[in-house]
Amino acid sequence: MPKVIEWVGAKEGDMVWRYPNEEIAWGDVLVVHEYEAAVFFRDGKAYDVFRAGRHVLTTANLPLLTKVLSIISGFDKVPFRATIVFVSLKQFQGRFGAQGQTKELAPLKFYGSFWFRVEDSNLFVNEVVGGQGVYTTERLQEFLRGYFNERLIDTLSQYSLIEVYGKLDETSFLAKNVLYDAFKRIGLELIDVKFEGIDTTPEWRDRLFYLRTGVLAPEVLRMETVQKTAESLSKSPGAAVGAGIAIIPPLFQQPTTQTQPMVLCPKCGFQNPQTAKFCGNCGVPLQVAGPSCPKCGTANPTGAKFCMNCGSPLQTSNKCNRCGSEVQPGMKFCPNCGEKLVQ
Ligand SMILES: [Zn+2]
Ligand SMILES: [Zn+2]
Ligand SMILES: [Zn+2]
Repeated sequence: MPKVIEWVGAKEGDMVWRYPNEEIAWGDVLVVHEYEAAVFFRDGKAYDVFRAGRHVLTTANLPLLTKVLSIISGFDKVPFRATIVFVSLKQFQGRFGAQGQTKELAPLKFYGSFWFRVEDSNLFVNEVVGGQGVYTTERLQEFLRGYFNERLIDTLSQYSLIEVYGKLDETSFLAKNVLYDAFKRIGLELIDVKFEGIDTTPEWRDRLFYLRTGVLAPEVLRMETVQKTAESLSKSPGAAVGAGIAIIPPLFQQPTTQTQPMVLCPKCGFQNPQTAKFCGNCGVPLQVAGPSCPKCGTANPTGAKFCMNCGSPLQTSNKCNRCGSEVQPGMKFCPNCGEKLVQ
């Protein structure tokens, strides 16, 4: 009596299912539903793929597996062993979130969503499901999150903090191209990527604020909410396949008073970390060796481009933010590297 091999009880959101019986007989009936593919997997390799329909298994419709089995005489008379993996061809949403760093080693936390579908079932089963032994939807989501995170961390590390924030559209566009290719290599089509939050540490946020006026206060506030989500999403068992999260944790640790020299606030005497720009107790600027504002006279921190009191541009020596070349006042772009200059 030939058996019927079928993905029974597939639920919304299920991505894969492994048929529990690995002993397959010629004449068994394989039923593949709409939006499914069934892939034969044996000895670490994916073979024939079946699309929707009712298929009586014969040497004719299993040509790839037949070629492997045919080294045994009489193979077409006896059952054979194979893992049948059912793959959903529907569109799915995955979540990403991790910690990375920019080109200048500024810590970055980010999270968001991506949408994908299986494009090449054979490749997908070869590279991921069978190849990595990831046979459940839950583990698959974890795997893909780690795979996505790792590649996004790589990509973002090639950009500066200003590029990541100031050109987020462009950056996420470039990241999407890299990720698209990476997904294609494992048989998936990456349909869309959406960054929902991106953040750095308060120190770098301060610095960024001074380097650019483009970041408005509401945007800075919005970034505050990002941290927790990014942290929870980066705690993925998919780290085992390279979520890359372990790369930079020291940067996120609070500096300890034992190892970090402190800066005393000139006003209230509070001990502040050396990197602090403002007193953590009273808010007075700590590194006021920088330029005074020509308009209101407020002393500003070293490197400030805009007055912290009134927002007026400060007459610092004009240097390109990107390459550091001296530039003439009034220039719009750096003559050396072409970077747009903040006026
Ligand atoms: Zn103070
Ligand atoms: Zn001012
Ligand atoms: Zn430049």
